[in-house]
Amino acid sequence: MRAHPAGPRHGEVLTPHPVGAAPSDLIELDRKVWPLTASRVGDGIGGSVLTVGGRSVIELAEQYGTPLMVMDADDFHARCREFTQAFGSARDVHYAGKAFLCAGVVRWLADEGLSLDVCTGGELALALRAGFPAERIALHGSNKSLAELRQAVDAGVGEIVIDSFDEIGRLVGLVDELTEAGPHADQAAAAAGGNGRPRRGTPEHPIDVMVRVTVGVEAHTHEFIATAHEDQKFGFSLAAGDAAEAVRRVLACSGLRLVGLHSHIGSQIFDPSGFEVAAHRLVGLLADLTSAHSELADTVHTLDLGGGLGIAYVSSDDPPAVDAMADSLRAIVSRELQAAGLAVPRIAVEPGRAIVGPSMVTVYRVGTIKDVALDGGQVRRYVSVDGGMSDNIRTALYDADYTVTLASRGSQAPGMLSRVVGKHCESGDIVVRDCYLPADVAVGDLLAVAATGAYCYAMASNYNRMPRPAVVAVADGVDRTLLRRETDDDLMRLENW
Ligand SMILES: *Cc1c(COP(=O)(O)O)cnc(C)c1O
Repeated sequence: MRAHPAGPRHGEVLTPHPVGAAPSDLIELDRKVWPLTASRVGDGIGGSVLTVGGRSVIELAEQYGTPLMVMDADDFHARCREFTQAFGSARDVHYAGKAFLCAGVVRWLADEGLSLDVCTGGELALALRAGFPAERIALHGSNKSLAELRQAVDAGVGEIVIDSFDEIGRLVGLVDELTEAGPHADQAAAAAGGNGRPRRGTPEHPIDVMVRVTVGVEAHTHEFIATAHEDQKFGFSLAAGDAAEAVRRVLACSGLRLVGLHSHIGSQIFDPSGFEVAAHRLVGLLADLTSAHSELADTVHTLDLGGGLGIAYVSSDDPPAVDAMADSLRAIVSRELQAAGLAVPRIAVEPGRAIVGPSMVTVYRVGTIKDVALDGGQVRRYVSVDGGMSDNIRTALYDADYTVTLASRGSQAPGMLSRVVGKHCESGDIVVRDCYLPADVAVGDLLAVAATGAYCYAMASNYNRMPRPAVVAVADGVDRTLLRRETDDDLMRLENW
């Protein structure tokens, strides 16, 4: 995609998406796109209100204000369980915290038995403060600072996924430091109110690490490309031999223990064959490494295939079935490792979007409506809502598609080709680029945008001094604030008056 400084929409640098004809029923909710418990309540024109978790969005909007992010807790839990069942163990399903993280979600994940991936000290600190078991946390990141590594080791995280030679150097330095501190450090840590676990980083209690391998598979949505090399910042190249060198350096440090190999091939992936090629390459590497370093047979217990599973943002999206994908990955890994006479490791995955994405809808109130004449006599209706790129940057950033519906009432008006835009001072501030809304949509109506659970709040900003919206969880007719709406005071808390 060619970029434009004001966002991809600004310079019309995007390839057009086919819009198609207006659907016959603008009020119907496509089950594939909307959260599990979303439904319409009330009959007839004006009576058909969107509800989630048994709560009407009209009431929620009155109570919490708009924009409002409404999270269907049942939907979230159901997806955690779907992954757990497909991969056979909750422990091997690592929720990618970067998609959306708050204390409430951390506790749900803990209860579901899932593991948690974090990639900064900030995400780690939240997880720990919310009481997530450290041994089920993995630390990711392409540029972890020494402070972050130390924070993770002190907390006793399950594993650190190593991304660079510099990071290995930092870990080796940390191990030296911990070894020098000697066994007394244990007592010192205990005296200082430590967590009672033995200090990691010694040959007796090594730090468990994985090596992130760039396997030469790049996958997004429908296509994946399998090449030898990948031109990107993450991981160690398999083809260039960097991955094998990283493993050698890890093995040379007695305070580190290699427990797995990791790869992550992309995002919003619909075609599972990209994962299969990645699994195949990772297995090949593991077999080679084990024949060179037999001790790996005892320590490497996991192949982590990363995240990236796609979800349906619009009706034409067709995400793969999680259980079928798990079966095919297991088959590849066991077939190829058994053929090499090796034990079959656990398969871990790291879904972020696929767990949290479909669980949320964003509710906005319509503020202005403007019909703009286009060349050729067509009219485009700009429907402005009270949020925008500060609560959902994905449309501006990735040209993402979304589904929107009139949420506060029904309508039998014909469909009008519309564009839902935000209130920011950017022409690229678009929430839903092309959609059909009933032609009678009016100022004051509520609109709901589906599948906003992943990478919307997580990437939210205060651009134009907009407060970030509240996030409220709903289930069985009960609502609970996960994150309250920001206030003007929140926005001014950093000022040095
Ligand atoms: C972003 C990321 C994920 C999660 O990706 P999703 O597309 O949300 O599933 C998993 N693992 C790693 C290493 C990531 O960087």
